[in-house]
Amino acid sequence: MEKYQAFTLRNFRSIPQIDQYLSEEERFAIEVVGNVLPFKANNYVVDQLINWDNYKEDPIYILTFPQKDMLEKDHFDEMAMAIKGGASKSELKLVANKIRLELNPHPAGQLEKNVPMVDDIRLTGVQHKYRETMLFFPSQGQTCHAYCTFCFRWPQFVGMNELKFAMRDVELIIAYLREHPNVTDILFTGGDPLIMKTKIIESYVDALIDAKIPNLKTIRFGTKALGYWPQRFTKDADADQLLRVFEKAKKAGIHIALMAHFNHPQELQTEEVKLAIDRVLNTGSVIRSQSPVMRGINDNADAWATMWQQQVELGCVPYYFFVARDTGAQDYFAVELERAWRIFRNAYQKVSGVARTVRGPSMSAGPGKVHIVGVSEVNGEKVFVLQFLQGRNPDWVCRPFFAKYDPKAIWLDDLYPAFGEEQFFFENEYKINRKKMSGTSRLEPELI
Ligand SMILES: *Cc1c(COP(=O)(O)O)cnc(C)c1O
Ligand code: SF4
Repeated sequence: MEKYQAFTLRNFRSIPQIDQYLSEEERFAIEVVGNVLPFKANNYVVDQLINWDNYKEDPIYILTFPQKDMLEKDHFDEMAMAIKGGASKSELKLVANKIRLELNPHPAGQLEKNVPMVDDIRLTGVQHKYRETMLFFPSQGQTCHAYCTFCFRWPQFVGMNELKFAMRDVELIIAYLREHPNVTDILFTGGDPLIMKTKIIESYVDALIDAKIPNLKTIRFGTKALGYWPQRFTKDADADQLLRVFEKAKKAGIHIALMAHFNHPQELQTEEVKLAIDRVLNTGSVIRSQSPVMRGINDNADAWATMWQQQVELGCVPYYFFVARDTGAQDYFAVELERAWRIFRNAYQKVSGVARTVRGPSMSAGPGKVHIVGVSEVNGEKVFVLQFLQGRNPDWVCRPFFAKYDPKAIWLDDLYPAFGEEQFFFENEYKINRKKMSGTSRLEPELI
């Protein structure tokens, strides 16, 4: 068994590489930003994934440790002064929470809009937006193997309790699944649900199997564990038992899909991850991979083509290429829609058909998952061609629509209808909020 050692704001200075390679100024910057945007690393990420000789440009380093520019200068200075002035823990927390509230913690009423009901009970740990798939945020899974610096979920990890999704009662979920025969998939998400001990996961899966819900076809787990702690499937004390749970579901006729979050091919190089993938696939489960495109991390076609190619070699199915969404440090990672499309297109052209199962670039926005099909010209007007891959209303899916070309656009709410039209076809039902105020707006998370 390999011991899991977590590194956070509290103890990151004890990481030998941080001590050896970084200047004190850089370490202080981590402390400043880390007080606002939580981060977490572990010994596997530090020792096996990051190339410290080139850490400033290392994608996994940038992904894992907070970077100075992730905060606006004013916010950075405010926190830096508080720390230098010897502020107490609780004072630092006040400063941090004030900054966080200005950073768009839960976009577009995500907490409010998609919370379903059974009888009169709000299922606060559930989100049901697309007809076939219900999301479940098990309360024990509301933390992560990593706190990726680009991630929209950070409010869930920083103790702002009212923002937390959480629920326990699997009975309510089963009742909901029975009342909604269109739902074929339940997607366990978080945080990272595979943070949970196997015995908890098993209790959920057992309950779902025992309930014999005819419409339930697939149980999915969104997870970063393959990338950041593959020992979850190999050496952890309850790793074998987890694989037995997957097998059990499969035997009961339920498909298990791991929605694996891989951001860079570097995460696919170790013997540990290869073994983990192999072991999961041997249970009869399928691994599908997804990631946002992020500036400075994977905003080049070679990274994606290599990643998809290697995933296919290892038996995984490339699934989604997302546009990084708007929260926390999004400005830092933002890639313009046009550029995201060019990167996608170049990468897609480099791989054979077996890796072209991937779809994107896709924005997980308020009305649905919007696919940027490309940039084109219609009657002399330059446009974005778009379509829904998923919609709040399933009828929106696969209907091409057009937005005015804008090279600076980074999200759906930057876009306006082409051809002088007043609104997009779906806006009768779901209005896009194009008002840009800092710390407000926008859309739904892309899910792991
Ligand atoms: C992405 C997503 C899903 C899953 O969509 P698939 O296209 O089936 O993978 C489900 N619910 C929400 C809210 C999502 O964003
Ligand atoms: S939810 Fe995924 S992307 Fe977000 S911090 Fe956790 S592992 Fe990273």
